[in-house]
Amino acid sequence: MEESANAEKEKAEESKPSITDGSQQVRQMWNTLWKLNIKHKIKIFIWKCLIGALPVRAAIHRKTGLGDPVCRICGEEQETVEHLLLKCQQTQEVRKVAPLQWDGAVDQQGDFKRWWVRISEARKRPKGMEHIGLTANILWQVWKDRNKKEFENISSCSAASTIGKAQKEWLEQEESLNTKTSLSPEETTSNIEEHYQGQAEEGTIILDVATTSHYDQVSLGIGVIAMRHPSIRLVEWALKERSLGDKAIDEAVAIKLVLCKALELHWSRIMIHSHNQELLRQLKYKSPSNSRLATLIDDILNMQKLFRMCLFCLVKEESIVRSKRLSSHALGIIVDEEWNFLSDTEH
Ligand SMILES: [Zn+2]
Repeated sequence: MEESANAEKEKAEESKPSITDGSQQVRQMWNTLWKLNIKHKIKIFIWKCLIGALPVRAAIHRKTGLGDPVCRICGEEQETVEHLLLKCQQTQEVRKVAPLQWDGAVDQQGDFKRWWVRISEARKRPKGMEHIGLTANILWQVWKDRNKKEFENISSCSAASTIGKAQKEWLEQEESLNTKTSLSPEETTSNIEEHYQGQAEEGTIILDVATTSHYDQVSLGIGVIAMRHPSIRLVEWALKERSLGDKAIDEAVAIKLVLCKALELHWSRIMIHSHNQELLRQLKYKSPSNSRLATLIDDILNMQKLFRMCLFCLVKEESIVRSKRLSSHALGIIVDEEWNFLSDTEH
């Protein structure tokens, strides 16, 4: 009996209107995010929260089996994005003193993406964009405070000071609105080059991306070589992820990760070299062959807008032989590896 009651409950959960990536709602949410007048790093932070790329304890534990997944602030639950940014005791305190309330989204707290979609709906209201921007700044401060505790062992800031810092940072950005004109998405070059003719401009960062997986293993090895055109070595990565058993999907996972790293390094003009014709074709025509790939393609195309220029180029396998080698090396590693050739001025 109990089992069937549970099954009923699960069924009810499933039949909740689901939030799909191609939906109007989600598209508007992304558009709103890119338009917010907030610092670039905060946009990237929210973006990471939305795609599940924020390195919270639960995510690290799930991926590597290392560390303790429990929240260090309250010690009561696993540290997921939802717990840390929405539910943790400490965050609740911050929210009590915030100049904004988020009561309308309280039923969505179990899923950060749904919650943010709901928050983004404020765009239509007077001052809505400002409120969303301030919300993003508050979440960012919560994350920064968490990192201070995590890495510097500095005990948590008071809720009022967290809000104070968020407001200060947000106001600075608001004030700079009139003095700076930011790049609109229309100005961003975002093409997909089927065949790369070698005409990269000097200074463009070229990223050779290759993946290796074994059909009987769950691991995905990713090898990346970044060069500043024409010939300055910047950085190389060997990364290990979980293989999803499909070459195009694995390659999409790799490209998404690489875009993430490129954004963190503040690279603004990049060119991704990939040997996966299938994925590049699907990126170009936005015609994903399945829903898992659709989500990844949406993520990639959304991230593309954060660059001044971001091109995807199909290259022959021979020309990315070194990153291919790195990707098979990555299959055997436990912790991601990085070789950094950047001088300080390159940052
Ligand atoms: Zn907590």
